[in-house]
Amino acid sequence: MGRGMRKPVVAANWKMNGSLELCEHFVANLVRPDYADVWLFPTALHLGSLAESFRDCDISTGVQNVWCEVEGAFTGEISASMVAALGGQLALVGHSERRASFGDSDAVVARKFKKITEAGLIPVLCVGETLEERESGLAFEAVQRQLNAVEEAWDSPTFSHVSIAYEPVWAIGTGEAATPAIAQEMQTFIRNHVDQNSTGDSEAVRILYGGSVKAAGASELIAQEDIDGFLVGGASLDVKEFNQICEAVKS
Ligand code: PEP
Repeated sequence: MGRGMRKPVVAANWKMNGSLELCEHFVANLVRPDYADVWLFPTALHLGSLAESFRDCDISTGVQNVWCEVEGAFTGEISASMVAALGGQLALVGHSERRASFGDSDAVVARKFKKITEAGLIPVLCVGETLEERESGLAFEAVQRQLNAVEEAWDSPTFSHVSIAYEPVWAIGTGEAATPAIAQEMQTFIRNHVDQNSTGDSEAVRILYGGSVKAAGASELIAQEDIDGFLVGGASLDVKEFNQICEAVKS
């Protein structure tokens, strides 16, 4: 198996943006490519609407975060099983904004990851180094630490059904995407790490790149052997731009 065998993914992380009107706009205007998987991560409040609208087609929906228990006294939180019951199929976990602003430690990310898989959702594990880590030569160590934390909390780690998003923190929301060479180098490292530390076929794991992806520049990134698609933040709120990014992953 190689890059050609992995179906590309284009994923939209709306963060704390969006509205029912935006959901309707996406339902009416989103291209539905057969050559790529399209995954939408609206706010949890908008998940039900989007999941219902896209129920009979290949567009999948998910949430940006869950708590690491199934139910109970966790005011304000939602669980992975609730997402599944509402028709969601995926969940982001370990996004750098959660890690930086909401205290999601490696240990918490690992617990959330476990609950997401137990609920039958596909986790999209976000990893990535800060600018400081990159500048001090610790980028690979940081990503390795984030991957190890999840693997260690898992009896028999297998990433075959999981996606990983490499999102360098310095590229998120800055308008400065990683160069194709930098992204490729880290994504090869991630695939090799998964190969050595988990069972299953690491060639089957889809590794996305995220960080200031726009239509311009998407073709150069997707041309890299280990970039299997994108996790798109800001640019995913504009359906026209998002459609163009979908077009760019067509081989
Ligand atoms: C993100 O938040 O996952 C992201 C990649 O954001 P942006 O595309 O805006 O950098």
